[in-house]
Amino acid sequence: MYDTNYHKPSSVADAVSALSGAEDGKVLAGGQTLLPTMKQHLAAPSDLVDIRAIPGMVGVDDDGDALTIGAATTHAEVAADPTVNAKLPGLAKLAGGIGDPAVRHMGTIGGSVANNDPAADYPAAVLGLGATVITSKREIAADDFFEGMFTTALEDDEIITAIRFPLASKAAYAKFPNPASRYAMAGVFVAESGGSVRVAVTGAGADGVFRHEGMENALSGQFSESALDYTDVDAGDMLSDLHGDGAYRANLVKVMAKRAVAKAG
Ligand SMILES: Cc1cc2nc3c(=O)[nH]c(=O)nc-3n(C[C@H](O)[C@H](O)[C@H](O)COP(=O)(O)OP(=O)(O)OC[C@H]3O[C@@H](n4cnc5c(N)ncnc54)[C@H](O)[C@@H]3O)c2cc1C
Repeated sequence: MYDTNYHKPSSVADAVSALSGAEDGKVLAGGQTLLPTMKQHLAAPSDLVDIRAIPGMVGVDDDGDALTIGAATTHAEVAADPTVNAKLPGLAKLAGGIGDPAVRHMGTIGGSVANNDPAADYPAAVLGLGATVITSKREIAADDFFEGMFTTALEDDEIITAIRFPLASKAAYAKFPNPASRYAMAGVFVAESGGSVRVAVTGAGADGVFRHEGMENALSGQFSESALDYTDVDAGDMLSDLHGDGAYRANLVKVMAKRAVAKAG
C-alpha cells in the first residue's frame, strides 16, 4: 500500500473541500472496488475521503412519486428496505442479487453508479427507471450520466449524494450472473410508466450500460414477452470475452428481457 491521507468529513461541503484540496483525492464508500484497485497498485490516491459518516448519505426517502436513496446506502440496506420492497420491488431484488453477502453489506449504490462497471447491476436500474443522479453540484438525468465503460458525467471533485428513482407501474430486472463473481453477463431492467417503456441492458454491451430502442418500441405497443420475439439484438454491439462471445450475449439479452417482462407483468 501507499501513504494515503484519510478524511472522514461530517458534511458534503467538507467532503468536497477535502477532495478539491487533495492532489489526487478519491471518494471512499464501501471500498469494494477502490481498495482492491489500490492493493493491486492500479490506483494510488493521495487522499481518501470517506463519505459514510455524512448525515443524509444513508437511507431511503419516499416523497410519493419517487424514492430517493442516499449514495452511501449499502446494497443489503436497499434489498431489505420495506419502502423499496413495497414501491419498487424490482429494485430491491436487484440489490439483493448483487455479489455475495460481504459485498452487499459494504458496497454502496453511489459507489456502484459512480464506478459504472460495464457488468454492474445498478446502472441498469438507474437508466431503466430514468432516475436522476443527485450530486454535490447538480442533478444529472440518467440518460446524460453514463458515458461508456467506467466513465460517467461526474467531475473529479463531484460527489453523488443520492439517486432519485421515479416510481413505475411495472418494473423488474433479470440477470444471468457470472457464476464466479455474480456480476451480470447480461442483465436487463424493464420499466413501464404512463404507457412508455424503458429497457436498459448491462453486462453485455461493448460500451457499458445502454437502452435498447427496438425492445422499448416493441413493448410500448404490447407489454408482453412475445412482443420481443421479432426484436434484434446486434451481436456486433456486444462484449466478447472469455466468458462469452457477442452472439451468446445477444441471445442472453433477449432471454433476460423476456424474463424481466414476465416478472414485471
Ligand atoms: C467479489 C465482488 C463481487 C461483486 N459482484 C457484483 C455484482 O454481482 N453486481 C454488481 O453490480 N456489483 C458487484 N460488485 C461491485 C460492488 O457491489 C460495489 O458496488 C462496487 O464495487 C462499488 O463499491 P463501493 O460502493 O464500496 O465503492 P468504492 O469501492 O468505495 O468506490 C468505487 C469508486 O466510486 C467512487 N465513489 C464511491 N462513492 C462515490 C460517490 N458517492 N460519489 C462519487 N464517487 C464515488 C470512488 O471514488 C471509486 O472510484 C462486486 C464486487 C466484488 C468485490
